[in-house]
Amino acid sequence: MIESPATDPLFSISDRVTIVSGGSRGIGKAIAAGFARRGAPVVVTGRNAETLEATVAEISDETDSPVRGIVCDVALPGEITRLVEQVIGEFGRIDVLLNVAGVNRRKRVETVTEEDYDFILDINLKGAFLVAQAVGKQMIAQESGTIINVDSLNTYAPLKGVAPYAMSKAGLVMMTRSLATEWGEHGVRVNTIAPGFILTDLTRKLWSDPTMQEWGLGNTPLGRLGEVEDLVGAAVFLAADASAFMTGQVVRVDGGFTAGLLWPIPFDD
Ligand code: NAP
Repeated sequence: MIESPATDPLFSISDRVTIVSGGSRGIGKAIAAGFARRGAPVVVTGRNAETLEATVAEISDETDSPVRGIVCDVALPGEITRLVEQVIGEFGRIDVLLNVAGVNRRKRVETVTEEDYDFILDINLKGAFLVAQAVGKQMIAQESGTIINVDSLNTYAPLKGVAPYAMSKAGLVMMTRSLATEWGEHGVRVNTIAPGFILTDLTRKLWSDPTMQEWGLGNTPLGRLGEVEDLVGAAVFLAADASAFMTGQVVRVDGGFTAGLLWPIPFDD
């Protein structure tokens, strides 16, 4: 529990009205809690009302910031319109959007169905675009705001077995850069965070396999898998004035996985 919001204005997100799309579990939930603890009014969204309710109760228990849950499936454009109207109606503005909602299915390319493809792309890319577009209109009217997308280390190099996911995240990076070029003149910044291997519902089963653990840890300079809390600092930074001159960028939070190749070379010394 943070006793008081950051007093350094460079890193303060206090009172910044924040939407976390896909904030009911995993990375989004940790970021939503991290923002609420630092004084930001937070709206968390997801598809499942019960999960949302539990998350709102949990975050509200440990912070004085207003925390709301609004059901919004980003694959359903009508729900995005309703979400944005509701947030503006209640809070009057939107300062920060975190586009965290994302899904994956691990399949060989030759068995990916059209339904698999549409499911992943509709949520990870089209959904993120439509949320950013709806929120961006409000930010343009305010002449301020910051949008933080969440891509993946797949945007550095694709991992075998997740082609539509990797493609969706690559699109998200280009979306980030495109929006940054258009909206900079309106005072709206758009960046993206690329997490490495983070333990969440999406990945926990995968990383319980000892072979996967050995490979993941062995190739990560910081020698561990990520925890959801590892993403909070980068998100606060990108939402705060500390990053005021940054837009269109990817911030990699991956323990150094994409820094270089760790090969088992013997040293000469
Ligand atoms: P997670 O634990 O499965 O949580 C996903 C969140 O997104 C949940 O709150 C989920 O809530 C929501 N969501 C899913 N589909 C949605 C939809 N159609 N509309 C609105 N909300 C939706 O996943 P995570 O591991 O935290 O991943 C979060 C993001 O980080 C994803 O974009 C993922 O691609 C990215 N990422 C994760 C990792 C990792 O190692 N975990 C690494 C790189 C990138 P409901 O199910 O209730 O809708």
